[in-house]
Amino acid sequence: MDNAQLQAWVERVSLESFRRPFLHKATFNSRLRSTGGRYFLRSHNIEISPKQLEMFGSEEVEKIIKHELCHYHLHLMRKGYQHRDADFKQLLAQVGGSRFCQAMPGTKRKEPYRYKLVCSGCGTEFMRKRKVDVKKYGCGRCRGKLVQSLVESQG
Ligand SMILES: [Zn+2]
Ligand SMILES: [Zn+2]
Repeated sequence: MDNAQLQAWVERVSLESFRRPFLHKATFNSRLRSTGGRYFLRSHNIEISPKQLEMFGSEEVEKIIKHELCHYHLHLMRKGYQHRDADFKQLLAQVGGSRFCQAMPGTKRKEPYRYKLVCSGCGTEFMRKRKVDVKKYGCGRCRGKLVQSLVESQG
C-alpha cells in the first residue's frame, strides 16, 4: 500500500464513520515506532506507521485511523481533542477507534552489551549483557581464563 491508497482510505473512513471529509494529508511514516499513528495540530496531517499494517493488518490500522481522525475532527471543531477529554473518549467509543496509539511489540530499545570478556589463553573477545563469574566460567574455546571489563555505555 502506498501513500495515495492510504489517503483514499483515510478519506473514506472519515466520510463513513464521521460523516465529515478529511481535507488534509495522510502519509505513512516508517520512523514511527512507539505509536501507530500521529496527528499534527499545526498542519492537521495524519501519519500512520506502516509497521502496524505489517504486524496487525488492515482491521487494526483502520482503528488507528479512526483514533487519529477523532483528534482531527474534534480539533477542527474546537472541541476536546485530547485523550483525557470527554469529547474525545465519547467520539472514539462511538466510531470504534483504537483506545490508544498502540505500542508495538519488539520496539523496545535493545539492552546494550556492558561487559567485555577477553580470553587470556587464545585472545577471543566475548560481549555480554550481564556480569559473568569468571571464576566459574572459562573460555568456551580453549577453557582459558577470562578477563572481564566494563564497557562504557553507548547511550
Ligand atoms: Zn492519540
Ligand atoms: Zn580461549
